[in-house]
Amino acid sequence: MGVVVPPPDMWQDRALGGALLEFKHDVEAVMGEFPELHAISWYRDWTHNAEEGGQPLSQHLLGLAIDLDWMGADLDYFKAAGASAVERGLTAIVYWNEEKRSLHLQALPPPMDESPFVPLLSWPGDFAQLWTLIFNRLRWTPQVVVKT
Ligand SMILES: [Zn+2]
Repeated sequence: MGVVVPPPDMWQDRALGGALLEFKHDVEAVMGEFPELHAISWYRDWTHNAEEGGQPLSQHLLGLAIDLDWMGADLDYFKAAGASAVERGLTAIVYWNEEKRSLHLQALPPPMDESPFVPLLSWPGDFAQLWTLIFNRLRWTPQVVVKT
């Protein structure tokens, strides 16, 4: 499945719309600096996310995560692009393993096991998720995470 732009109702949502615009702006700035990168996955609906083996709390579900790739990229290239994203306030995860090699950028920090709210999580519509995101936001140190 190709790159899917978040649907119009998400852009018009009072809570989400502004975050989407800001995320898009930041991602475009990173891609301006690293023009070889192209998007391979952006918005995923619930079914699509499950099919791709996405995490149940994936920010792709909100359009607040995007996967970027370039065939010629090496690990240092992804790390440098990730650092550019982190400077802009995004969270960057470099996948560099047998299963996948790509750069995942997202607006908010990832869920962390230390959050006391994680055991309460169930998607969709659980306030525990909101609290987890807030908790993680407070605890998160901006950094490029490399998953080898
Ligand atoms: Zn991703």
